[in-house]
Amino acid sequence: METARHDLVILGGGPGGYVAAIRATQLGMNVACIEQESALGGTCLRVGCIPSKALLESSERYEQAREELATHGVGVGEVSLDLATMMKRKDKLVTILSKGVEGLLKKNKITRHVGHGRLLAPGRIEVTRGDQRIELEAAHVLLATGSKSAGLPGIEPDGDRIGTSTEALSYSEVPEHLIVIGAGAIGLELGSVWRRLGAKVTVLEYLDRILLGMDAELAGEALKVFKRQGMQFLLGCRVTSARVEGEQCVVESAGNEPRRGDRVLVAVGRAPNTDDLGLEAAGVRTDRKGFVSVDEHFATSAAGVYAIGDVIGGAMLAHKAEEEGVACVEQLATGYGHVNYDAIPNVVYTEPEIASVGKTEAELQEAGVEYRKGAFPFVANGRARALGNTTGQVKMLADAATDRILGVHILGPRAGDLIAEAAVAIELGASSEDLARSSHAHPTLAEALKEAALAVDGRALHV
Ligand SMILES: Cc1cc2nc3c(=O)[nH]c(=O)nc-3n(C[C@H](O)[C@H](O)[C@H](O)COP(=O)(O)OP(=O)(O)OC[C@H]3O[C@@H](n4cnc5c(N)ncnc54)[C@H](O)[C@@H]3O)c2cc1C
Repeated sequence: METARHDLVILGGGPGGYVAAIRATQLGMNVACIEQESALGGTCLRVGCIPSKALLESSERYEQAREELATHGVGVGEVSLDLATMMKRKDKLVTILSKGVEGLLKKNKITRHVGHGRLLAPGRIEVTRGDQRIELEAAHVLLATGSKSAGLPGIEPDGDRIGTSTEALSYSEVPEHLIVIGAGAIGLELGSVWRRLGAKVTVLEYLDRILLGMDAELAGEALKVFKRQGMQFLLGCRVTSARVEGEQCVVESAGNEPRRGDRVLVAVGRAPNTDDLGLEAAGVRTDRKGFVSVDEHFATSAAGVYAIGDVIGGAMLAHKAEEEGVACVEQLATGYGHVNYDAIPNVVYTEPEIASVGKTEAELQEAGVEYRKGAFPFVANGRARALGNTTGQVKMLADAATDRILGVHILGPRAGDLIAEAAVAIELGASSEDLARSSHAHPTLAEALKEAALAVDGRALHV
């Protein structure tokens, strides 16, 4: 049997794993990357970020063509939906980007193995594919095996009518009534897609708010907007079971009448992907929820074994996994590696988008930090008016004593792109005064950030 030796073997070819592989080769390591799926890119590229953004874009255009273009004086006649073409465009995008990752691994001379990786001991990994088996040896092993959809007791997904985000990215027809369980980013994004395409959408959420973790005020505003758009919500709703009855699904929740729909999307969170990974054989410890436990340098309890990305928990975001991958291998190669979690943005790609970086007001209040707040509404921003999209606001939180920016929260058009400026400001330790004194092109949505920064000091100019 073949045994190859590497400086670093990475399990998982998602954003965490493949980015860590590239960075490690840049630093001179001999790297192998094991991915059990034939396509590289992980959850994010295959069944996550990319396909969901493709459908969000297409469905938004469909809705705009039906409802908005006329207000611009653009007549398009009768608007029709060709769902098969929409899905093909999404699939093509995924294939192209996945091939792109494959090209990057080749260019960087990273050895790629298609197969399931398992730890035999620290530094020893076996890769199996069908009845083929090889063994690898490595000074360092990096676990980047990601996550899978979390289940809910009482619900048995049948992979068709009752399914996860993966199925909801590929329905072959628009559901009549889609019941979404869970009002997090995934539930709201995919709920938005199918609502725009004509489905009735009902979101059932256990908590009494949506988007836990996002600024409560903006999440409340977003809820109102989603309701205006026609999405229905039942908050404080504990779902107890969901089953298929013929062509219908029946969802039961405590204290409510059963709800019937033709599709159910279970979007109650993500669980670590550690199936058959050999954690015990290698002495890798996990926490109560099954996430791999790591120290500040991503080292697990087993010598030479590290873990990053969704499999270690925290914010389950592609760019968080990437940052951790880079920091982990830089630490290995140079002795320095660090992730600033306060500067990692979080975006929900609904319309309007919701984006946030740094601390929320609730977090600052809980920590007893004195802060000043500046807010600026998009209704007072000329570019937002020209776009015909004036919902929402920018909210900036700065330390009361030092003026250092501690958190920025945006609900509004292109919030996901606008938040980059705030993330850089936090990363560079900027004050609200720094941002307020920086020139912002006119007319742009980004001017709302400058105005929110001015508002921290009570001197916004356009309200
Ligand atoms: C519907 C949806 C939408 C999302 N949208 C966004 C978004 O817009 N922005 C964002 O930042 N994040 C988004 N996410 C989250 C994002 O996908 C994850 O945070 C990200 O993929 C985590 O990267 P990772 O490298 O840790 O793991 P993953 O991307 O999950 O990759 C892990 C890889 O490891 C492989 N693997 C697992 N076990 C083994 C093994 N034993 N051997 C070999 N290979 C193995 C898996 O097949 C997988 O390809 C979304 C997720 C979903 C589900």
